[in-house]
Amino acid sequence: MPDSVDSAVQFTATTPDVPPPSAALRRGREHYFPQASDAEWNDWRWQFKNRITTLDELERHLAIPEAERKMRAEVLSDFRMGITPYYLSLIDADDPADPILRQVVPLADEFYFRAVGEEDPLGEEKYSPVPGITHRYPDRVLMVISNNCAIYCRYCTRKRTMYEGATPDVEIDAMVDYIARTPQVRDVVVSGGDPLNYSNQKLESILAKLRAIPHLEIIRIGSRVPVALPQRIDDELVAMLQRYHPLWINVHFNHPRELTPDAARACDKLLRAGIPLNNQAVLLKGVNDSVETIKSLCHGLMKMRVRPYYLYQCDPVRGAEHFRTPIAKGIEIIEGLRGHTSGLCVPTYVVDAPGGGGKIPVQPDYLLRYDERAGRAVLRNFQDKIYEYLEPGYLRDVISPSRRTPPKSASKPHSNGVAAHPKAASNGKHEPHSDKVVGKSRWVHKGASPKRPKKS
Ligand SMILES: *Cc1c(COP(=O)(O)O)cnc(C)c1O
Ligand code: SF4
Repeated sequence: MPDSVDSAVQFTATTPDVPPPSAALRRGREHYFPQASDAEWNDWRWQFKNRITTLDELERHLAIPEAERKMRAEVLSDFRMGITPYYLSLIDADDPADPILRQVVPLADEFYFRAVGEEDPLGEEKYSPVPGITHRYPDRVLMVISNNCAIYCRYCTRKRTMYEGATPDVEIDAMVDYIARTPQVRDVVVSGGDPLNYSNQKLESILAKLRAIPHLEIIRIGSRVPVALPQRIDDELVAMLQRYHPLWINVHFNHPRELTPDAARACDKLLRAGIPLNNQAVLLKGVNDSVETIKSLCHGLMKMRVRPYYLYQCDPVRGAEHFRTPIAKGIEIIEGLRGHTSGLCVPTYVVDAPGGGGKIPVQPDYLLRYDERAGRAVLRNFQDKIYEYLEPGYLRDVISPSRRTPPKSASKPHSNGVAAHPKAASNGKHEPHSDKVVGKSRWVHKGASPKRPKKS
């Protein structure tokens, strides 16, 4: 099946307008839904209506081992399933560990780990001034306006909200009202659930109310619809959305096989309406936890003009233990991208701190040592070569003491890297004292003072 990625992505790079379905995707559709006409298949209402939501429906398409039937049923009594025919058609029916399947089909692991994890791992409710709003950061809020999605991702951080009834209009109005009376909010992330699951009319009424708030500069929508139900992104929807600029959309592709011609066409429509697209992927064991997979995902996204924005560490949400990776895996992936491919392809890897600490960026440590008083830094490049960099403060050792300017903040040197964060500094491989320094700030060696302290 990997050739489906290539054909989909290659095609988007050359003719973004009307990509035909790739051969593999066509096989997928024919395998699962041979009876569907093109008109049905391309109609998002048909896709939505024919979602797979029960085990009986699932079993018509994918075998369920007898031993797992009860387990899966119990899992579903707790967190619902929803798979559009389109998304199902991306699953390789012969591969029980298929990365698309793992995202949406409840498996035995989810049963085993059903009691492990938290209800609200991000503490969203702790920072909630009114139901649906999380105000965690100074100038922006999260606004959860729906609790249903085109597909239900088994690792969803917000699965706790997914079995409530529809969000009542009065609650949405209360959210809008909170933003209207909170002038420091200049950016709202409208999420869910999936806001694009609403009718155009209902969504427009919400966007119009938000746009009427003078201090609200940016509206962002978080949606997995371009991934799971790309047919929904039609001219009518896009014409409505573009009346509410500046509007940004965060999409959620996790695997290169999701980058199909249909998804590319949906993204292209949004982009042509002036809506910038940023991708938020979740790092998931058995789905995308390798440098190759994430690199291929990011390359494919770039060809679709979608910027990789965040790579999230999987949250410790109830029932998702089997998706979690060590943080070292995320660091390894970022390290495998930075310098090795376009900087635009490198998302920010973030760990959402438990209990509402917010997103914390984590990255490989390239600053192996930093002695602010000596004005000396030891850095590592993407090829693991070590460089010494001297700051302008170094000059205090070669000019007369009366002209020295002490460094502003530093009263004591601090070092960063190996000792303090053995894992972060490239998994503890680096000992700057033993590694050969291959580059140094050049001017230092011209007439450098012998008095230069050998500090760090
Ligand atoms: C992620 C998030 C945001 C937006 O964060 P950015 O880093 O600006 O994308 C805002 N509020 C909450 C509660 C969030 O979780
Ligand atoms: S689309 Fe987003 S909100 Fe919906 S189930 Fe998936 S991760 Fe959760």
